[in-house]
Amino acid sequence: MTTRAQKITFGQLRAQGLHHIEVYCRDYKCSHSVKLPADRWPDHVRLSDIENQFVCTVCGKRGAEVR
Ligand SMILES: [Zn+2]
Repeated sequence: MTTRAQKITFGQLRAQGLHHIEVYCRDYKCSHSVKLPADRWPDHVRLSDIENQFVCTVCGKRGAEVR
């Protein structure tokens, strides 16, 4: 199973030793992705909470998949 269905937080992410997130454009034709450092969000924030804050820099679509 993917981690997408799980409501994991940045605190849990860091507890697993991960310090970056990968953000993917929701448009499958674009599928632009970017790596961001996870330390810019506090521990209580869930990955799913920030997905709608992203706007793709390539196609301009709002919304992303965070892994
Ligand atoms: Zn895009």
